Amino acid sequence: MEFDVIAIGGGFTGLVAANRAAQLGLRAGVLEQQTDERYICNSRITTGVCHILFANMKLPEAEMMPIIEAATEGRARPDLARAMAANSRRAIDWLSDEGARFVEMVMGDGTRSLILAPPRRFKAGLDWEGRGGDVMMRKLEASLISRGGQVMRGTRAEGLIMEDGACRGVEVVRSGAPQHIYAKAVIVADGGFSANREMICRHITPGADRLLIRSAPNAMGDGIRMAEAAGAELTGFGEFYGHPVHREGLSNDKLWPFPMIDPVVQAAVVVGADGRRFADEGLGGIIMSNDIARLDDPQSASLIFDDAIWNTVAKQGPTSANPLIHSGGGSLAQGDDLTTLAEIAGIDEAGLVQTIGAYNQALAAGTPERLDPPRSTRLFAAHPILQPPFYAVPLCSGITGTMGGISIDAACRVLKAEGSPITGLYAAGTTIAGLEGGPSVAYMGGLAKAFILGLLAAETIAAAESVQ
Ligand SMILES: Cc1cc2nc3c(=O)[nH]c(=O)nc-3n(C[C@H](O)[C@H](O)[C@H](O)COP(=O)(O)OP(=O)(O)OC[C@H]3O[C@@H](n4cnc5c(N)ncnc54)[C@H](O)[C@@H]3O)c2cc1C
Repeated sequence: MEFDVIAIGGGFTGLVAANRAAQLGLRAGVLEQQTDERYICNSRITTGVCHILFANMKLPEAEMMPIIEAATEGRARPDLARAMAANSRRAIDWLSDEGARFVEMVMGDGTRSLILAPPRRFKAGLDWEGRGGDVMMRKLEASLISRGGQVMRGTRAEGLIMEDGACRGVEVVRSGAPQHIYAKAVIVADGGFSANREMICRHITPGADRLLIRSAPNAMGDGIRMAEAAGAELTGFGEFYGHPVHREGLSNDKLWPFPMIDPVVQAAVVVGADGRRFADEGLGGIIMSNDIARLDDPQSASLIFDDAIWNTVAKQGPTSANPLIHSGGGSLAQGDDLTTLAEIAGIDEAGLVQTIGAYNQALAAGTPERLDPPRSTRLFAAHPILQPPFYAVPLCSGITGTMGGISIDAACRVLKAEGSPITGLYAAGTTIAGLEGGPSVAYMGGLAKAFILGLLAAETIAAAESVQ
């Protein structure tokens, strides 16, 4: 079997790349390890918010570039950052031409975003059938087939076929039998390693076993392993994209991916079992999920707030903690005073009383940044915890997508450590490095990486073909 382009992975990255390649006249195929017609992957279960660093993907390059530079603090590869900014609006237009529908939605923080339609119903738990991600996946698969391409389900990529340092195809297992599939170009599009606890342990935190996998279960990092064996540089590990989640989400699927607890985390106080704060809540939920994941016990944090927060902040936005914690069956410890609350929630009583007292005092004095650790208010306002009843939610860290992986350039060519590309090998989507992470845990947007880099990988390959 011989193709011009093979994508490893049938999520948005692989399907966008294969469609664009077929549109440009190439013979394109997608390898997908799963067999179900509507196989579960991150793209199918996505919420569908199309953003770059939470900015609307329709922004022109001149407005998008400073947003990327500021948020990534110079950590993003300049060529990749520019490619994201320059092709963001075009990617949305291309998807619209492919039949994608978008609606504008006001998010919990008041910003307006494009979301794949029809949007999720925003009830407790995962709701994907017939929603934007699922609908668009089916459209892209149908388009690929109508363009003469193939989606090979039940075909698991196990290794790359390398000859004289160049990638010539993929070693697969198909219907239980090993097989070689040859292609002039291979795009690694397997979705990162958010479901692989051994890799999370190696690259992110020793507490991997105590995190909630808030993603599809098949993002096992196969592409990173295969690319490394082919000589690719791996880089950019350390942080991840995730959210603080109700700890009972570990055993109750109605508690992830929604409710979204971040707005309450950002307004209130997070403590460990000793009742002490350990991180700056004001930096947002993504950073907090990384902080929780790095605790000695990532299942020891609790979110503390009062009745005023529960009836205001916790009710904002379509995925709010109030009422979705209740409708998802999650516990909510409640006490008329902090001592009672600490006792019910299993938190050190003296530690909690002292922490909340110091926090309220610092807010009243206008000096929350002098707390240890500091409480910043530039991004999210801090609310006092004064009005009984007081509440505690047991937290854990939910990992939605990984950051870091295969080193690529702005043409999606896979790079060796010395910077030269590996002939015939490309990577795109969540499996790549070079855009995210760092102290501010910059999160580029999983869909933006899938759509934009999927297009660019195909276009690079088509351009290389045309000069041969
Ligand atoms: C609950 C949830 C909500 C999200 N919401 C948003 C959002 O609102 N906005 C946003 O920007 N991002 C969001 N994301 C992230 C976004 O959905 C993903 O980053 C994106 O869909 C990744 O696309 P991908 O094609 O790279 O990977 P995936 O969609 O994960 O697809 C990879 C595919 O590769 C296959 N595969 C893996 N290994 C092999 C192998 N060895 N052989 C063959 N096939 C293989 C897998 O089975 C899978 O089907 C969300 C993610 C989740 C989980």
